[in-house]
Amino acid sequence: MKKLIDFLKENNISFEENVDGKKLCSFRVGGNVTVMAKPKNAEQIVALFEFLRENSIKNILLGRGSNVVISDEGYSGVVVLLSEINEIKIEDKKITVGAGVSMLSLATAAQKAGLTGLEFAQGIPGSVGGGVYMNAGAYGGEICQVMTSCTCFDKSSGKVISLKNSECNFAYRHSVFMENKDLIVLSAAFELNGGNAEEIRAKMDELRGKRIASQPLEYPSAGSTFKRPDGHFAGKLIEDAGLKGYTVGGAQVSEKHAGFVINRGGATANDIKDLVKHIQKTVKEKFDVSLECEIEFVE
Ligand SMILES: Cc1cc2nc3c(=O)[nH]c(=O)nc-3n(C[C@H](O)[C@H](O)[C@H](O)COP(=O)(O)OP(=O)(O)OC[C@H]3O[C@@H](n4cnc5c(N)ncnc54)[C@H](O)[C@@H]3O)c2cc1C
Repeated sequence: MKKLIDFLKENNISFEENVDGKKLCSFRVGGNVTVMAKPKNAEQIVALFEFLRENSIKNILLGRGSNVVISDEGYSGVVVLLSEINEIKIEDKKITVGAGVSMLSLATAAQKAGLTGLEFAQGIPGSVGGGVYMNAGAYGGEICQVMTSCTCFDKSSGKVISLKNSECNFAYRHSVFMENKDLIVLSAAFELNGGNAEEIRAKMDELRGKRIASQPLEYPSAGSTFKRPDGHFAGKLIEDAGLKGYTVGGAQVSEKHAGFVINRGGATANDIKDLVKHIQKTVKEKFDVSLECEIEFVE
């Protein structure tokens, strides 16, 4: 680790040692993370991943940690965050943003510029990089509908490349970045339509109101726990299986929205994992439907 710390210092990359995993994921669970690093630009990202590869140091990239559960044992390696990659550039109807920009900031920038198409994104608490990785979406909108291209760092070749939308294998909560974990989104470009800033704001407010009314936003979670199975809604299946309010330790199937597992207080990553397994088993037994986890477990 001394070699890594020396490298981070020499390359002027911000870092922290022994970070509480609870601070890095929206579920507020997890043990100690050995090192958290925040590169400031593409050069630092390239240099950092090259160093980690050459020295076989375990690492994972996170955006805002809003779709992950960090293990109770913590993470013995480097968590790389792109929160410093946060430039927003607007040219006519095109917005280009760094991967660390929050979806809320992206949606707000579009709204202020009188550009419509990203209203759906404002309530998704992730980063643009995480949103592209997940093909995040809500209320009929999805990243793949508005993103035209992105730049990526390919850890395997050490090159920065550009991918068009059609090369990203987008599907429901799926992208090429899930197929190839060596690809890191550095920035993404969105092509939007001209609109009225007031009307766009009103639409965003309306969607925010819907979220507040239907989702347990007062508790830590990672949003919808499962992907929508073909022909069904995960929340409805879980509710019909009698699991609303079902609790394992501090993890609970939300009483407000059964599609969410929440941290009622003091939940561990293992509580969440055990609850997820119990839900999957029960729904499979009762309805013969397999629920695929949308959230990811970092171990
Ligand atoms: C209250 C709540 C509501 C939510 N509502 C929605 C919703 O309506 N719709 C929806 O789709 N999701 C929703 N989510 C889930 C989550 O916000 C999204 O999946 C989001 O896109 C995750 O982004 P992130 O930056 O937090 O990613 P993280 O959780 O940090 O990471 C998730 C995955 O993305 C990868 N990743 C992150 N950044 C990059 C990058 N730059 N390049 C390559 N891979 C990367 C990580 O390695 C990891 O595998 C919700 C979550 C919460 C807590």
